Amino acid sequence: MIYQSFKKYQETLKNGEYTCTEAVNYFLSAIEQHQDLNVFLEVYAEDAKQKAIEVDQKIKNNTAGKLAGMVIGIKDVLAYQDHGLQAGSKILNGFKSQFTATAIQRLIDEDAIIIGRQNCDEFAMGSSNENSAFGPVKNFADKTRVPGGSSGASAVAVQAGLCHASIGSDTGGSVRQPAAFCGVVGFKPSYSRISRWGLAAYASSFDCVGPITGNVEDAALLLEIMAGPDEYDSTVSSRPVSDYSNLSAGDKKYKIGYFKEALESEGLDPEVKELTFKKIESLRGAGHEIVEVDFPLMKYLLPTYYILTTAEASSNLSRYDGIRYGYRTGNASDLENLYKKSRSEGFGPEVKKRIMLGTFVLSADYYDAYYTKAQRVRKLIQQETERILTEVDFLISPTTPSPAFRIGEKSDDQLQMFLADIFTVHANVVGFPAMSLPNGKNKEGLPVGFQVLGGNFKEQDLLNFAFYLENNK
Ligand code: GLN
Repeated sequence: MIYQSFKKYQETLKNGEYTCTEAVNYFLSAIEQHQDLNVFLEVYAEDAKQKAIEVDQKIKNNTAGKLAGMVIGIKDVLAYQDHGLQAGSKILNGFKSQFTATAIQRLIDEDAIIIGRQNCDEFAMGSSNENSAFGPVKNFADKTRVPGGSSGASAVAVQAGLCHASIGSDTGGSVRQPAAFCGVVGFKPSYSRISRWGLAAYASSFDCVGPITGNVEDAALLLEIMAGPDEYDSTVSSRPVSDYSNLSAGDKKYKIGYFKEALESEGLDPEVKELTFKKIESLRGAGHEIVEVDFPLMKYLLPTYYILTTAEASSNLSRYDGIRYGYRTGNASDLENLYKKSRSEGFGPEVKKRIMLGTFVLSADYYDAYYTKAQRVRKLIQQETERILTEVDFLISPTTPSPAFRIGEKSDDQLQMFLADIFTVHANVVGFPAMSLPNGKNKEGLPVGFQVLGGNFKEQDLLNFAFYLENNK
C-alpha cells in the first residue's frame, strides 16, 4: 500500500477506490510477513476485521468519524478493555484491561481501527527495546540493530508499514528516540496535554502519551483527537484543544536556538553532527535566524531525570505485589515471602535496578540529598528553559547522539545506554512539547533524527514549524 498521509488515504476510502477491509487485510498480511521483527505481542485480527466492516458501512452512510479507517497499533502500556496489557513484563502475565485508556477510547470513537499491541521495554524503561520480557525488537533498516526504546516496536510498525500509526508513551524520549532510529515522526506533547488514564505508570510527572507516524499531519490529527480534559485524570490540562491538524507551513521567519553544549559534546557521532549542521545551514539559508545558546545546566539533565523517574517508579510499581495483578509465585511460605518472590520472579533486571535506585533516593537518610535536590534542579532547568524560550521560538538538536546501535552493543554499559537520551530527556524534565523528524540517513543508510522543542502548550506553533520542515527538506 502506498501511504502518504491519512488525508490522502481517506479520500480513496470516500470515493470508493479502497476500503477499510482491504487496508486491514493488507496490514494483517504485512504483520504476518514481518514476524521476525518481533513488533506485535498480540494481533487483534478478528476485532480489526469486524471494525473495518462497520467503518466501511459508516463511510457509505456518511456517518464515519474523523479517523475512519486509520489502522493503529498501541504500545503495550495502554489499556484496551478486555485485551491483554503487560507493559512488556512477565509480572503482568495474563492480565486483561478492565477499561480503555482515554487516549485510545477517543481514537476508537472516531472510528480508528486498533490492530494490536506492540512490544516495548519493560514498563517503558529503556532506550533499545532490549528490556522486554518478550525479546528484542529489530530495526527494519538493519535487523542487527535496535529500534530504540522504549516504544521501539511502535516505531518499527510505522517504519515497516505494519499499520498507519502507533501510539506510544514518552517519559524521557521513548517516542522520539525510536522515531529517530527508525526514520519516522515522533511527537511528545506538553505534559498533561493528553490524559494518562489507562497508561501504565512509569514516572507520573514525566509520562506522556504520544503518536508515532509517517508524517507531521497525521501526528497533528492524532494529537487533536487524543488531547483535552478528562474527568478520569485530574492532572490533565483544561486548556482548549485547537484544530492542530489545520497546519500552515507559512513563510514566517523564526528565531531558533541550539545548545552549544549539545553540538560540541564529545559523544556526538560525526555524521549526526554533520547532518544537524546541514539542517541548521539550510534553515539559515531560508532566512531564519539561528543562534547559539549557552545551557550550562545541560549536564544536570540526565541525573535529574534518573533520580526523579526512578523515585516515582519505585512508588508506582509497588502495586505489583503478586496479589492484585498478573503473575504470582507458585511457592511462597508466607505473605511477605509471596510479595518478595512474586516481584523477584516477575520483574526483569532493568526494572529491579530502577526500583532499588528509586527506593534508595527516597530513603529517609538520602531523601534530601537526592530527591529534594533533584526537584530543585528540575525547577531551575524549567525556569531557565522557559526564559530561553522567550528569546527564541524553538530549540533544535539532533534527537539522539548516534544512529541506531547494534543489538547487544550497549546492554552492559548503563551509562552509554542512558546517554542515548541526552537530548530527549530535556523536554520531559521541563514538560514542554518536542518532536523528532527524519533528517536523512548516514552513509550506512541508517536514519538520523532532528528534534524541535517548543514552548509549553505551543503545540500548534511546533507542528506548523515541523510541517514547514517536512515540506522544505
Ligand atoms: N530511555 C529512557 C528511560 O529508560 C526513557 C524511557 C521512556 O521515555 N519511557 O527511562
